Amino acid sequence: MSDTTLTGQCMCGAVTLAVTPKAPELHACHCETCRRWTGSAFVEIDVAPEDLKVEGPVKSRASSDWAERAWCDECGSTLWYHLTVPGSEFYAVSAGLFENSGGFELTKEIYIDRKPDGYRFAGKRKIMTKHEVEALFASFGEGDQQ
Ligand SMILES: [Zn+2]
Ligand SMILES: [Zn+2]
Repeated sequence: MSDTTLTGQCMCGAVTLAVTPKAPELHACHCETCRRWTGSAFVEIDVAPEDLKVEGPVKSRASSDWAERAWCDECGSTLWYHLTVPGSEFYAVSAGLFENSGGFELTKEIYIDRKPDGYRFAGKRKIMTKHEVEALFASFGEGDQQ
């Protein structure tokens, strides 16, 4: 956990958040689900469950066996992706909810092999393919059975 607390809000202001990021970093996901959900890449800040404080009308939906996604029930703003695997649980909170996305740098892109050809983020950073990400999720699942 970092020592930075960020406060943010959805488009209409009905949902407000205060988070303490795990690290001062932005991550982007190019998977098809994130692209349908956000319109393009989902840029997010990782937050531990105990470091997310939220008020307002939040709705969520399971998007896979291991995650759910939440939005403001008033305006539809993307709020977070929640990895629900016990022991590995965290929130990937939408960076767009925070002023200047917290001032953080983009340090990782995942599902890079699912990114459309027509755009890319400038610069170099850690990248992971769909296969690499899902192997990591599978290892979380194995840990859970012990
Ligand atoms: Zn809203
Ligand atoms: Zn994704």
